[in-house]
Amino acid sequence: MATAAAEKQAAATHVDVLIVGAGISGIGSAYHLQEQCPGKSYAILEMKDTFGGTWETHKYPGVRSDSDLYTFGYRFKPWVGTPIASAQAILDYMGEVIEENGIDKHIHYGHRITRAAWDSKTNLWTIEATRKSDGANVVFTANFLWMCQGYYDHEKPYMPDWPGKDSYKGLLIHAQLWDPKIDYKGKKVLVIGSGATAATVIPEFAKDAAHVTMLQRSPTYFFCSENRNELADKLRAGGIDEPTIHRVVRAQIMHDQAVMTQRCIDEPDVVFEELKMLVRAFTGKEDFEFEPHFTPKYRPWQQRLAFCPEGDIFRAAVAGKLSVVTDELDTFTETGVRTKDGTEIEADIIVAATGFNLLMMGGIPFFVDGQPVDWHDTINYRGMMFTGVPNMVWVMGYFRASWTLRVDMLGDFVCNLLNHMDKKGVKRVEVALRDEDRDMTLGDWIETDNFNPSYLMRGLKQLPKRGDKPEWRHNQDYWAERDQIPATDLEGSEFLYDGVRAGTKVTEAA
Ligand SMILES: Cc1cc2nc3c(=O)[nH]c(=O)nc-3n(C[C@H](O)[C@H](O)[C@H](O)COP(=O)(O)OP(=O)(O)OC[C@H]3O[C@@H](n4cnc5c(N)ncnc54)[C@H](O)[C@@H]3O)c2cc1C
Repeated sequence: MATAAAEKQAAATHVDVLIVGAGISGIGSAYHLQEQCPGKSYAILEMKDTFGGTWETHKYPGVRSDSDLYTFGYRFKPWVGTPIASAQAILDYMGEVIEENGIDKHIHYGHRITRAAWDSKTNLWTIEATRKSDGANVVFTANFLWMCQGYYDHEKPYMPDWPGKDSYKGLLIHAQLWDPKIDYKGKKVLVIGSGATAATVIPEFAKDAAHVTMLQRSPTYFFCSENRNELADKLRAGGIDEPTIHRVVRAQIMHDQAVMTQRCIDEPDVVFEELKMLVRAFTGKEDFEFEPHFTPKYRPWQQRLAFCPEGDIFRAAVAGKLSVVTDELDTFTETGVRTKDGTEIEADIIVAATGFNLLMMGGIPFFVDGQPVDWHDTINYRGMMFTGVPNMVWVMGYFRASWTLRVDMLGDFVCNLLNHMDKKGVKRVEVALRDEDRDMTLGDWIETDNFNPSYLMRGLKQLPKRGDKPEWRHNQDYWAERDQIPATDLEGSEFLYDGVRAGTKVTEAA
């Protein structure tokens, strides 16, 4: 008699590869799959009604990238706009990639994945999704799962449980849930937080609000720059074609970033002085006061440097449109908030720019041969595969370099792996510790002395473990990985194909 699992598989739509999510990772991965594995069938399942992921979710005033689009854009599609781009410009760019490559016909919108189960007998994933249009449970099977679901909960942002929240009579909203219909003209706005979101939203609010206050627990580093790339402008003026400009400018930016990252480690104080000089230049205020609100406690780059186009946040401060309070929030009041040192801040609208809730694998429950997967029990191979979970790759980009650099890189890796499996005639790949890894020290996935944003720190228990060898870490270092990942030996002994360790002489019929 057929088991429930077998019945589900029989009734399912089958694809070779199932991509989860139609954000910048899912669309880029689909492009690479089409280009490099043209024989593979695939589908993208996306719970929203449209593509874009992050760039569709966030609708707060001024929402934009904080890295340049020459590197945040895909390697295969030249970016022709300003380096820092609005969410809409990024969506337009993604829309062009989808249309130009016929990706749209593979996307199933309004499909929220609710379960993913691997079966070693059939070497198949069974993926269940709820279809929004009619609430039906739809089933897909796939040989390979490409997880491009991002890293945070798109529906429930992180809002601390502040005391007295309910007594506040104004509008309290998290930036991630901002509705563009909210009218803030002439109102007093308080933004809680000081990261990239706060840096984006504050100068926009400052244009029309009566006044903006930023309440931060601790200061952030800001990098002020014009929103143009001089080299791109020069090459364009010289009539150079866009693909060449894209390639050259990407290379230049990545070189500059590598130098900057190293300098942040080697000479953080010198870098900070340079960041201050830029603030002075953009505000025209030689005696701009950095203490206490703009002098962080950590070293630059340990958390993302917030980009500040044209020094806008500092110019808002100098123009008297922005006040900064550096203190902990004690309680909400009827009219605003009170901080620990007793400062009262009045506001008509309070915007929490307090970050994300990490959501591992989009919150999808995973099973391998009937057993639930606890990601924290797995060990992560180069930030992309997990011990004990076959035929799956997870796209987790960079935090210090543009996320999409890793999307392109893992696109090549996955396609090489799939083609390698076809050549070998095998159906299953997984990673497993080698003999020399058995005594390896395992630790938290995030190396806190290297990189420690709060949403990752809060979510450590959802994340896999890492080892102390390069194969078992996501080192967050694009400049190292761009050599390491393409050079991966797919016959290295960390790979098992159809249960047989690569590099061993045993060959089994597939
Ligand atoms: C406001 C903001 C600005 C940012 N700016 C930058 C930047 O400038 N540079 C940079 O490098 N990074 C930036 N980031 C990080 C950014 O999230 C990534 O760079 C990138 O956009 C992530 O893309 P993604 O496709 O991997 O994930 P997402 O954009 O999160 O997309 C994932 C998709 O998967 C779908 N999904 C999730 N779960 C399920 C499920 N169960 N079933 C079906 N579908 C599901 C979601 O609906 C979503 O569409 C920014 C993040 C934010 C929030």
